[in-house]
Amino acid sequence: MEECIFCQIAAKKIPAQLVYEDAELVAFEDIKPQAPIHILIIPREHFPSLNEVPEEKKSILGRALLVARQIAQEKGIADSGYRIVLNTARDSGQEVFHLHFHLLGGRRMSWPPG
Ligand code: AMP
Ligand code: ZN
Repeated sequence: MEECIFCQIAAKKIPAQLVYEDAELVAFEDIKPQAPIHILIIPREHFPSLNEVPEEKKSILGRALLVARQIAQEKGIADSGYRIVLNTARDSGQEVFHLHFHLLGGRRMSWPPG
């Protein structure tokens, strides 16, 4: 079976602008940024979406949020503000079916989202 695109990025089989990595998580620049700062945080392990994350893997979700916070601090947007997005399944507009958090910042954002 062909590996998904984010599995390939995590394995460094295809290039990305990495901003963080550890044994469980990888963060990299979104290829089509929707804000001055737009970074994706992914687990190395493949889960198609939040819907498929089992209870025993829940710690990865908390870790991903704290890595997003750390990157926000490093990028200087912790105080000005940022948005973390986790699109899940069809109605959210999810396009890549490997769990990922979006970290967006560097501009004022509107609410409600589109
Ligand atoms: P989503 O709609 O939540 O599934 O978001 C998928 C995101 O992945 C989009 O913001 C895309 O721009 C981004 N993306 C897709 N392919 C790549 C890639 N090869 N490198 C970096 N970001 C990507
Ligand atoms: Zn994957």
